[in-house]
Amino acid sequence: MLFVSGCVHECRGCYNKSTWRLDSGKPFTPQDEDKIIADLQDELIPRQGLTLSGGDPLHPQNLSAVRHLLERVQAECPGKNVWMWTGYKLDELTADQQQVVELINVLVDGKFVQELKDPALIWRGSSNQVIHYLR
Ligand code: SF4
Repeated sequence: MLFVSGCVHECRGCYNKSTWRLDSGKPFTPQDEDKIIADLQDELIPRQGLTLSGGDPLHPQNLSAVRHLLERVQAECPGKNVWMWTGYKLDELTADQQQVVELINVLVDGKFVQELKDPALIWRGSSNQVIHYLR
């Protein structure tokens, strides 16, 4: 699982406020990317895929790095699933964000809305959020 930094949504009740700032955490290096690819290729500890959350993986300033990583996952780790959580809505994505979403399998979209919080939900915190099984 990769938690990225940077989120503009400011949801009340956010579970991970420390990731809002783009410069929180530590810089994502080529070595970090190589490690993720190597872990996904590791046959001794099989992994189903990669999960991207945050912060927001679709924050405009994250798109280039996330896209590069996902293009490598697609090319070098066949058969692995990629899940992503974002505060943006699928039908409101920019063209650049859509290009990244083309590279994933499942998108859980929408802001967290405290009034719609439901602990019984699977994979999402509030009932407005939607699980899109894309491919
Ligand atoms: S989109 Fe996610 S990380 Fe961003 S403020 Fe909302 S709950 Fe927090």
